[in-house]
Amino acid sequence: VATPDYILEVSGLSTGPEREVETSPPAGRPWLAVHWKCCNVYSRVYRNIAQTAYEGACPSCGKPVRAGIGSGGTSQRFFAAS
Ligand SMILES: [Zn+2]
Repeated sequence: VATPDYILEVSGLSTGPEREVETSPPAGRPWLAVHWKCCNVYSRVYRNIAQTAYEGACPSCGKPVRAGIGSGGTSQRFFAAS
């Protein structure tokens, strides 16, 4: 019986250096889960740079939404856009 006495090492499976996806927001950036009633879809909207509101748009039809932070705003983690 001819049994190979070596171990085949598979190389080349590495896909190279991991790359950060540049379009992803910084880790830890607050976001709000939004239910878009217009299209019955869910997505996240992220806090704006001014830290004054969560702002985003429906991923399906592009309808904008703005949820204020602080007084008069929302402290919910889930937001329903009508
Ligand atoms: Zn929509």
